[in-house]
Amino acid sequence: MVCPNCQSSKVVKNGRIKVNRAICVECNRQFSENPLPQSYSAEVKALCQTIHNGIGFRGIERAENQP
Ligand SMILES: [Zn+2]
Repeated sequence: MVCPNCQSSKVVKNGRIKVNRAICVECNRQFSENPLPQSYSAEVKALCQTIHNGIGFRGIERAENQP
């Protein structure tokens, strides 16, 4: 694990926070041990769209069944 700010390997884990956080000794910058990916893959985007559409259709169906 290296600091994303200065690429130093002199980092210490910050166990006080539940999320895996670490602090760089060199620049004192806090960062996450497992940073989230910058962008989702096309596969994940497609899956999210499918789920979103499914909820949308269900919502319309519910609305149509209302008296
Ligand atoms: Zn650093």
